[in-house]
Amino acid sequence: MNLQPERALVAQACRVAAARGLVDGILGHLSLRVDDDRLLIRCRSDSDTGVAFTRPEDIRLIDFHGSPGASGELDGYRLPNELPIHLETMRAAPQQRQAVAHLHPPDVVAADLAGITIRPIYGAYDIPGAWLARAGVPVYQRAVLIRTPELAKDMVAAMGSAPVVICRGHGITSAAGTVQQAVLQAISLNELARMSLRVHWTGATPAEIDDADWNDLPDLGSAFNVQSAWRHEVARLNEGQS
Ligand SMILES: [Zn+2]
Repeated sequence: MNLQPERALVAQACRVAAARGLVDGILGHLSLRVDDDRLLIRCRSDSDTGVAFTRPEDIRLIDFHGSPGASGELDGYRLPNELPIHLETMRAAPQQRQAVAHLHPPDVVAADLAGITIRPIYGAYDIPGAWLARAGVPVYQRAVLIRTPELAKDMVAAMGSAPVVICRGHGITSAAGTVQQAVLQAISLNELARMSLRVHWTGATPAEIDDADWNDLPDLGSAFNVQSAWRHEVARLNEGQS
């Protein structure tokens, strides 16, 4: 199974997440389900130089037991310790969760540790983010490395039907139908946390936007929210490399 476009996309999404400051160094990983039994996931190797420098060949095909999805797929590559995050998140909602991003965004971790709950404190500044916050962003309270199916199931239970969950003192898990959406909603969550921290630093406690405003915060559609937004992410990534 070649899956070259899919491997390139997951690798690109890793680089976008790193460029947006959602991961630092070598920690964090993305995955994409490709059929009933298999998924692509960002693996590690002896030539790995970190998430920001993820190459298509770092994205390997495995099955839901963590075994190679095809001959040779894990030769020279190691699975991330937190693989169960991806497997259990996908298993809990196979239709909706085709892609999973596990990231360590410092502003989200800091806001949660500061006792700040993610709430819709802005509207048109980022409409998808505002709706994400309105629905509520759950928190998994344990700061552990999620390296067993049991811990991953606990995290997934805390996540419920939400698209994202904050892992206290750790990071986030974001799940969606596409890799792009999984990363874009992580970017939105990071921005909510960053703005919340900024307002708190002034000494103010931000209020939620007025209930009357929601009628005029429309869904602008995936062509704008996902395709255009992703083109921008890729463009700024390429700009940074030149
Ligand atoms: Zn982690």
